[in-house]
Amino acid sequence: MIKKINTKTIKLIKFYNFINYNLIYNNAAINRYKKDTFELPADKAEKLQKLKQSIYNIKNCNLKKNATNIVFADGNPKAKIMLIGEGPGSNEDLEGLPFVGRAGALLDKMLASINLDRKQVYITNLVNYRPPENRTPTAEEVERYLPYLKKHIEIIDPKILVLLGSSAMNAIINQKEVISKVRGKWIEKIIGKCKTSIIVTFHPAFLMRQPAQKKMAWVDLKMIREKKVKLKI
Ligand code: URA
Repeated sequence: MIKKINTKTIKLIKFYNFINYNLIYNNAAINRYKKDTFELPADKAEKLQKLKQSIYNIKNCNLKKNATNIVFADGNPKAKIMLIGEGPGSNEDLEGLPFVGRAGALLDKMLASINLDRKQVYITNLVNYRPPENRTPTAEEVERYLPYLKKHIEIIDPKILVLLGSSAMNAIINQKEVISKVRGKWIEKIIGKCKTSIIVTFHPAFLMRQPAQKKMAWVDLKMIREKKVKLKI
């Protein structure tokens, strides 16, 4: 069915195009891909399964005690682009998948703006269980989950690693700078056996609170698009 767009909306789209703001208008449905739908080499599938099991086996973790589900990952485990958020919110906790709430809808739009969807990326979080009241995970919680996250990165072995927000930035590249100073540049890093190009950008939840920063996020997204072409991925 073709939907009629009124004049006001057309003007708005033109305005957003004019200011390079095309993260905002996209009616595409949220597209989620569970890893089980991908044919993986047996060893990769086994490593991911083992990692998930070892997270299940974590003892004495407050986050885990209060959570409904483990939130392990979404997207394509064969993808060469991996994204790391902060931690599951209430929708993610209920569905057991990362970025399925409002921030997830914006993340999908951001990906769509550079012709990507969840079939072409792999998504996880710093911590795999929801922090109560959606608070930021504490330093101790991040420390507890970091070895699992590093293992996760090693198994996926992405060529491009996108850190969404300052929590992911601090944990993975240990930057003392504010995110606005670190975003928008490539940082080459070796994590375990994985050699990857890292880019930090704003977390979609932050962009919902500070929409003026979407212009900067768009700059980062274009850099990812260019890198993808350069690396032929
Ligand atoms: N915010 C995150 O950082 N991760 C999610 O999965 C959802 C919201």
